[in-house]
Amino acid sequence: MALIVQKYGGSSVGSVERIQAVAQRVMKTVQAGNSLVVVVSAMGKTTDGLVKLAKEISANPSRREMDMLLSTGEQVSIALLSMALQCLGQAAISLTGAQVGIVTEAEHSRARILHIKTERIERHLQDGEVVVVAGFQGITGNGDLEITTLGRGGSDTSAVALAAALQAKCCEIYTDVPGILTADPRIVPDAQLMREITCDEMLELASLGAKVLHPRAVEIARNYGVPLVVRSSWTDDPGTLVVSPKLQPRSLENLEIARSVDAVEFDTDQAKVALLRVPDRPGVAARLFSEIAYQDLDVDLIIQSIHESNTNDIAFTVSKAILKRAEAVAAALAPALRTNAQQSLGEAEVMVEEQIAKVSIAGAGMIGRPGIAAQMFATLANAGVNIQMISTSEIKVSCVISAQDCDRAIAALCQVFDIDTSPIQLTALPELPTPLQPVRGVALDFNQARLAIRHVPDRPGMAAKLFGLLAQKNISVDMIIQSQRCRVIDGVPTRDLACTVAQADAQDARSTLEKAAPELGCGDVLVDDAIAKVSIVGAGMVGQPGVAAQMFAALAQEQINIQMITTSEIKVSCVVAEDCGVRALQAIHKVFGLAGEQKIEVPA
Ligand code: ADP
Ligand code: ASP
Ligand code: MG
Repeated sequence: MALIVQKYGGSSVGSVERIQAVAQRVMKTVQAGNSLVVVVSAMGKTTDGLVKLAKEISANPSRREMDMLLSTGEQVSIALLSMALQCLGQAAISLTGAQVGIVTEAEHSRARILHIKTERIERHLQDGEVVVVAGFQGITGNGDLEITTLGRGGSDTSAVALAAALQAKCCEIYTDVPGILTADPRIVPDAQLMREITCDEMLELASLGAKVLHPRAVEIARNYGVPLVVRSSWTDDPGTLVVSPKLQPRSLENLEIARSVDAVEFDTDQAKVALLRVPDRPGVAARLFSEIAYQDLDVDLIIQSIHESNTNDIAFTVSKAILKRAEAVAAALAPALRTNAQQSLGEAEVMVEEQIAKVSIAGAGMIGRPGIAAQMFATLANAGVNIQMISTSEIKVSCVISAQDCDRAIAALCQVFDIDTSPIQLTALPELPTPLQPVRGVALDFNQARLAIRHVPDRPGMAAKLFGLLAQKNISVDMIIQSQRCRVIDGVPTRDLACTVAQADAQDARSTLEKAAPELGCGDVLVDDAIAKVSIVGAGMVGQPGVAAQMFAALAQEQINIQMITTSEIKVSCVVAEDCGVRALQAIHKVFGLAGEQKIEVPA
């Protein structure tokens, strides 16, 4: 007899009929000889409704009271599903997070799971009952037994954590789409189903806006090797399998917080090319990277950020062997990239740096924990290492530094993050037998804001200070970009720094940085929340020239201007104006040939 954990999302239990249909499905799985733990979300849009109620009472309700309120939604649906099962003659019992013993941090509205007590669930399963557990909620382990919630969309995380704790055969996430698709079908109706996706790809997609899975659920599945499937609760189709690597068994203590960083990596075979003062208009990045791709040159990191006087800096890294050719392409293009004559800024300028190294920290445990990146920056600062470029993804932070600092940086990072295995030297990947499709999926995120800090003194420790302050407020940042251009103000060389944060955190982030700016010698802090972030994700883009270029070209074709670019090994993200977001997503979905014949119907 196998133990299976199933999770049903809000739309799957949105009405009495839907709850009865779920009960039928659960019965079928039991009759096939399985024991079952079922995690459910609140019915339909209940949680949104509760949030709205709270906002009618208070503009800024306390997070504790919000948890008290929002956790009630799931208590309704577990009771109703249990009743529906009992009506079918199936023994069942509903349990809240507290009754199970889903112990979390005392961090309201975004608690992480520390431990799950399995005794009570196991007892009920022994008695032949289906155990119906409230998703999204937990309880603090201290004497006060405070109710906590895991963050919006957190029922997925409850389900996968239960599957890990109970060592279930698999975890099935039932939702209102046939599985994980190449894009959100509400925006791109000809999105296609993926039969399989790696957990690294899914982690990126989930954190870049694909809300079909909560990123932390993917993280737990990855860390504990839980087989994870996403399927529709309306059909019997098999859905999408999220594939995890085989890892050493881990302790279930401190389930979500045990290890933040799994590895320190470095690459000394990189060189940097920067193009300064390129005009801020559609098509510039496309032109540069198309030309580079045409020469079959593979680019690793790319960053672009807007700068004063409406010109951009674009910087990228390549392996040393192809630096001369990449530089030649950039140099040939520079004269053509004249900025507006009236601004008399002249032509773009190429800058090359050969003695660089990339050092990275990697690990699924850093998701949603801004303190980890800040700690990396602080570690480098303490070792006297200046950071030239930063690239972030959900599970990796990479910094480009001077080659002569590399050994010192690695030693300091290994010590601080307690990595006793030797650091991993990245080398060229072996040729894959069958080339993977370079782009698997695309995502759109409207919930971000762009934050810019002007004139940050160019010396070790500034990134550590600024992002450390945000981390203290639990504000996660993404797409961190430093301008390549240096501007001397009162004798001090400075650079601009930009990043994206969740819109909900933007004002808090601004006031935090504004308070600190004078003392740190920084300039103005600017916020723009009329932005959208579009991203492409795919493990197959590693070592494939031209993927980013194709994305930029698709945006240029649509006359969409790119405000910021960042990349990691398996993703490229661009910030565009908010009102271009949908068009941008549709264009990049099309250009990578992701569209299918079939239209995906999302149940109303
Ligand atoms: P549930 O209530 O079942 O948890 P959610 O609304 O949280 O459901 O997530 C499912 C929704 O995620 C889909 O209806 C779809 O609009 C959206 N979505 C976004 N990106 C994707 C994607 N790549 N694949 C599938 N669905 C996606
Ligand atoms: N009901 C919660 C929410 O709407 C949790 C979930 O559905 O996963 O965010
Ligand atoms: Mg969900």
